[in-house]
Amino acid sequence: MELRVLGGVREIGGNRILLRSSNESIFLDYGKNFLREEEFFQRPFMSPSFSEDYLKTGLISSLEHENLRGVLISHAHQDHWGYLNLLPQGIEVYMGEAAGKIIGANVELGYAEEVLHTIRTFRTGDTISLGDFSIVPIHVDHSVPGSYGFLIECGNIKLAYTGDLRMHGPRRDMTLDFIDEAASMGVDALIMEATKVAPENDPETSIIRLLETRLFYRWGVEPPKRIKFELSNEEEVTERIKSVCEGSDSIILIETSSSDADRIRSVFEAAKKLSRVLVMDERMAFINEAMKGAGIDGLPGIGDYLLWRRKRRGEGEERTSSRERRGMRIFIERFEDLSGEEAIIQGERRAEIFKEPHNFLVLTSNATRFLYEIPMDAKVRLDFILSRSESFSEESALSLDRLMNWLLLYGVRRYYRIHVSGHMMPEQMGEFVESINPGRIIPIHTEHPDLFDAFVPRRMRDLIILPEYGKLIKLG
Ligand SMILES: [Zn+2]
Repeated sequence: MELRVLGGVREIGGNRILLRSSNESIFLDYGKNFLREEEFFQRPFMSPSFSEDYLKTGLISSLEHENLRGVLISHAHQDHWGYLNLLPQGIEVYMGEAAGKIIGANVELGYAEEVLHTIRTFRTGDTISLGDFSIVPIHVDHSVPGSYGFLIECGNIKLAYTGDLRMHGPRRDMTLDFIDEAASMGVDALIMEATKVAPENDPETSIIRLLETRLFYRWGVEPPKRIKFELSNEEEVTERIKSVCEGSDSIILIETSSSDADRIRSVFEAAKKLSRVLVMDERMAFINEAMKGAGIDGLPGIGDYLLWRRKRRGEGEERTSSRERRGMRIFIERFEDLSGEEAIIQGERRAEIFKEPHNFLVLTSNATRFLYEIPMDAKVRLDFILSRSESFSEESALSLDRLMNWLLLYGVRRYYRIHVSGHMMPEQMGEFVESINPGRIIPIHTEHPDLFDAFVPRRMRDLIILPEYGKLIKLG
């Protein structure tokens, strides 16, 4: 067996790992590469929309589709599945059930391109046979439900791939299952995510510094001060939200990823402890409902929250329907049936929650968008909590810039960063690789693979293969 890493090399995400036997090949993940795309395209004016655009810029290559037997998706983050629509028809695509539901919901909302392939779902411990390859998915803990790592056998070679995972999350037991299975199988190579490996001056801090300086030079204003809490597990998130918000007479606004079920649960708990009514924006609510449909427990149900409807151009007028909106309309109708019209916040009513700010906690996947939707006559007093991971590209710096400006507009002088990462802490990577004890280690999904060796036991450093983009790695 041989492999090529075609994405996730010296970058976070865009994972595409091509495994090849003498006859055929499979892909582990088929992720969108946001960073590389930005090098050539600019949305929405110059968006890549056809396979040709990707082929001519080398973002994908037609060679990689030769004798391709199937694609295995580790989880529902776009940097792991976002290029599925570029695969030729007839390729078999496998993923967990929850991943399928989350992806489907995002496509429905128009946040992702439609996947036209038949998706086959698997459960932990299943064996998937794809020609020369035999693959066993094992559940792992990550910031989205339905995340898996894979154990692969081909000929006499055994390989483990982590996908994205962590050891400090609420479902640590699942990651431990992966470790046990990989260890007892005895793998020749381990392809592992190393997102959090970074030098001390992390990009997050430097970008915020840059932003502060720019805002000050340009407009003479200081951006809101960011108060960061380093938390080590999800339970602390609920407690910290509670402690920073207790006694506040402002609206509490929290931004997080719409597919982070653990975080939604923590925020829901915090709202209950603070005796505040949870308000969710429609994307958040829609994806939440999809995750509930996949059997994910503890999430708020219809009746537990109010729905903040997105403001649309020409609001109030009847608009022509499109495919993306149909699913949302069905959801809204169901929501209205179960919760009543008064549970939907739209139009004039948007100003109302600001009349009793101490009663509400708003959970959104896009705080900037929420702030922009606040009616002009609302008297706004709000506390803001940023509770998501950020990928630090120029584009995301710009969007952070906008968020800061909106916050300033509403007089927010400080905000809180309360977050626990979905990725393994570097300090735990040594224990992780020692337990699995692989023949070789290939760190990917990090901007600093060259620093990875600092986190593994010295005797294992020689086992590390630093992948290069597209370069052949032979295993046995
Ligand atoms: Zn991920």
